[in-house]
Amino acid sequence: MELFRLTVAEARKLLDKREISATELINSVYRRIDAVEDRVRAFITLTRGQAAEMARNAGTKIKSAGPSSPMLGVPFAVKDNMCTKGILTTCASKILFNFTPPYESTITSRLNDEGYVLVGKTNMDEFAMGSSTENSGFHVTRNPWDLKRIPGGSSGGSAAAVAADECIAALGSDTGGSIRQPAALCGVVGMKPTYGRVSRYGLVAFASSLDQIGPITKDVRDSALLLNSIAGHDPLDSTSAPVSAPDFTAALGRDIKGLRIGIPGEYFIEGIDPEVARAVRDAIRKLESLGAVPVEVSLPHTGYAVATYYVLATSEASSNLARYDGVKYGFRAEGKDLMEMYMKTRSQGFGAEVKRRIMLGTYALSSGYYEAYYRKALQVRTLIKKDFEDAFKSVDVIVTPTSPSAAFKAGEKADDPLQMYLSDIFTISVNLAGVPALSVPCGFTPDNLPVGLQFIGKHFDEESVLQLAYAYEQATDWHKRDPDL
Ligand code: GLN
Repeated sequence: MELFRLTVAEARKLLDKREISATELINSVYRRIDAVEDRVRAFITLTRGQAAEMARNAGTKIKSAGPSSPMLGVPFAVKDNMCTKGILTTCASKILFNFTPPYESTITSRLNDEGYVLVGKTNMDEFAMGSSTENSGFHVTRNPWDLKRIPGGSSGGSAAAVAADECIAALGSDTGGSIRQPAALCGVVGMKPTYGRVSRYGLVAFASSLDQIGPITKDVRDSALLLNSIAGHDPLDSTSAPVSAPDFTAALGRDIKGLRIGIPGEYFIEGIDPEVARAVRDAIRKLESLGAVPVEVSLPHTGYAVATYYVLATSEASSNLARYDGVKYGFRAEGKDLMEMYMKTRSQGFGAEVKRRIMLGTYALSSGYYEAYYRKALQVRTLIKKDFEDAFKSVDVIVTPTSPSAAFKAGEKADDPLQMYLSDIFTISVNLAGVPALSVPCGFTPDNLPVGLQFIGKHFDEESVLQLAYAYEQATDWHKRDPDL
């Protein structure tokens, strides 16, 4: 088998047995990148030089006796909104086209400590705003299953890189679905942990009350392994929860007999692609045959989630993005005075979607509208959170489709922001409630496009989510298929 096809767990074994070296592994990944990247275009920056050095260092550590840390020598792709010291971090925005952070995000610094190998920084929708990567200020990433289609977004580059085997695993960020939806559309596994589970220090902020970093991997075991490495309290992020993280791999292989899975009627609505609905229903039957007990539940405020999210996320974004003014870092346009410099910098530096959101958010927060929009949205958010609390009184995990459709064609929704916003309908409530969720491949459409199944858990109960997803994955072989690139 080609080394670039390995999972994290497989690579770990072969590296530790010294059957392969970290340098052979990264070389194989780069050969794959050389063969497919001009078609997929998953990366903004490739870090060949650093990667070679990191692999050499990892090799030395592996040779010196003693147990290896889990990610030692494993090649990772990182979404380009996580700060990597000395390495370009653009958020796929022209306004940060030349930004090289002077510090490292907590998450990448943990992986550094473990001795991971950074393959490169992946493409995304600008500032993580979008569902297709078409909002990237640089280029559009293509879906490895069909190059005419989008990979989803906003972590489209990370998901496409994993699906195309251009890395062993990747990190994404998820504010309203940006890990799970691209994972679903690319046929890989994506997890958004509980809000507060993973440090956001050094993650460029989009909507701080919703943003969360998580793993995008080839299978569920890797998701648990990577979560082990990144979960846990960080004093540098005041929203990081002071709770200890369990060993998430312990949940894998536990019997799912008797686990109650909630099926929310609100998620099986008209407008959902019939092929997606069929695959998800088959998956629920599969889970039932494995001993899980389906229970109907209701999440009655689901219909308000998209509207609520697009008020809150844009409000927070309008405030977070105020810092890009051409003064301290990034792009600067010249102007005759300070005000003109600000205005030109922001109008030339931001793309259309980012500007739309800054304007929407500024409006929702402005005096006279604050009560009607922002405060109202906060109230509805509380109701959505309560929906989940109520549902979780009678079930252990909730099961839904991840996205209402499979990957759409590039350009199909690009000019229709509302249509694009609606593609987040099944992922957004999870961020509003702050609960964890994972998307796992559950089938293919007749066009050979992957479909994703979403497992939603209680706060800080990633374990039940992983347990069910792993049981499902072991009983199926969707995750074993590879795109024909
Ligand atoms: N698609 C959603 C948006 O455009 C979610 C993005 C995300 O999770 N970062 O805001």
